[in-house]
This record gives sequence, C-alpha cells and structure tokens, in this order.
Amino acid sequence: MGLFLLLKRLVFFQYSEAVTIMATEFTKFTPYVPKKGEQYMSAKQRGHFRKILEGWKGELSQDIDGTIHAMQEDATLFADPNDRASQESDMALELRNRDRERKLIKKIDETIAKIDSSDYGYCEGCGVEIGLKRLEARPTATLCIDCKTLDEFHERQVAR
Ligand SMILES: [Zn+2]
Repeated sequence: MGLFLLLKRLVFFQYSEAVTIMATEFTKFTPYVPKKGEQYMSAKQRGHFRKILEGWKGELSQDIDGTIHAMQEDATLFADPNDRASQESDMALELRNRDRERKLIKKIDETIAKIDSSDYGYCEGCGVEIGLKRLEARPTATLCIDCKTLDEFHERQVAR
C-alpha cells in the first residue's frame, strides 16, 4: 500500500470514527432550569426538547450524507484485492452504523411527534413524569427509570 493510500485510509478511519462518536448522543444544549412553580412539560420545556431533538437529528443527517460522500470517494482508491477486501469490511461496518443512525432518526421523529401531541415526557409504562434530567440525558426515553430497569431485568430473564 502506497503512503498516499495509507494516509487516505487513516483519514477515512478517523473521519468515520469521529462521526460514530458524535452520533450516539447530543450534548450541545444548555440544561433547562425551570422557574419556581413552573408546570412540568410547559410550552417552554417542550420547545427546549424539540430544539435538542431537532439539533440531534440535524447532526445525524449530516453524518449520513458525509459518510456516503466519503465512501463514494474511497470506492475508487484501491486496486489491490487485499486492500479492497478490508475496505469492503470497513464499508459494511459503516453501513451498519448508518443503518443504526437511520433508526435513531426515525425514533427522533416519533419523539417529536409525541411533543406535538403533548404525550412527551411521561412514562409509557406507568404514566409518571420521566423528569427533565433524564430526558436531557436521553431525549428519546419513553420509560421512567424504574420501568426501564424492570424492562431490562425482564429482557435479561428472556435472554437466558
Ligand atoms: Zn414508569
């Protein structure tokens, strides 16, 4: 492998790793501080979470576009079959990541729809308030921490 190709490859790797890390969470927001006596999921709070979700979605969409671009450029680089083979497995991994991101975008869209219908922020299991802190850490959460823990416990039982 020529030095140039090696460099190109490294750049591609670093690039794809950077976007993968960025995709899993979104932290570019100021934590919401409710006013004294402010109602849970007030219009302002719903707006806050909508902005987080839309920002996150925007970042994910950019990642997908960027990766497709990088892969199209990369596709013409390797003449050596060995290079091509490992390039193919890189791409397969990338595509799986992209697939995960697309699913996440779908989930974000569903979550934004819940904000629109005012269902957002309440546990689907027991109906309690999920809470601002938990939602900021996991904006697509649909269960309170108790129901989530119970859910994971059941999942482990089934897996056994
Ligand atoms: Zn619950």
